[in-house]
Amino acid sequence: MKYPAVFLDRDGTIIEEVGYLDSLDKVELLPGIPEALSALRAGGFKLFVITNQSGVARGLFDETFVHETHEFLSRKLKEFGCSVDGFYFCPHHPTEGRGRYRIQCNCRKPKPGMILQAVKEHNLDLSQCWMVGDKMSDIMAGKNVGIKAVLVLTGYGQKAMNELVEEGYLDVPIAKDMKEVAQIILESKKLK
Ligand SMILES: [Mg+2]
Ligand SMILES: [Zn+2]
Repeated sequence: MKYPAVFLDRDGTIIEEVGYLDSLDKVELLPGIPEALSALRAGGFKLFVITNQSGVARGLFDETFVHETHEFLSRKLKEFGCSVDGFYFCPHHPTEGRGRYRIQCNCRKPKPGMILQAVKEHNLDLSQCWMVGDKMSDIMAGKNVGIKAVLVLTGYGQKAMNELVEEGYLDVPIAKDMKEVAQIILESKKLK
């Protein structure tokens, strides 16, 4: 049995967008996140956080800090009786990176490397997967593996909405927050 999943961007999608998140006291869940994630779980979806963290490449923080952030975030979610099934991050940047982090990798969104890795490691059914985020690179990461994507208007969402319209991607659903994202995804599943 293969599982349906929702891939979630992190910054601006489930936690506040604060630029480069470099300390745990800046980690704030956006309003309604535990409820939205719990609703998706109850609908049978596995949940994965898929995040570009070029702050590592830029030398602003290290990979250990990103892991600590994800453990902290997991504990916060657990307080609300909620969880995700995994975290994937890209520490690279093609031009700004230091040393081994300055590469054209396959994981930095809009590339779909992290999605494909999660699919492989967790036995996911790509045809039943969704990508959710607040930037064009999130939407394109989804489109680049042929899955459905939802733009959320938190974080950089307003800017991304203008870009979506300019570039003619009029088929991408737009949600004001994660609660609305969950409704769109669950409704679509029901229609099948
Ligand atoms: Mg984001
Ligand atoms: Zn990468």
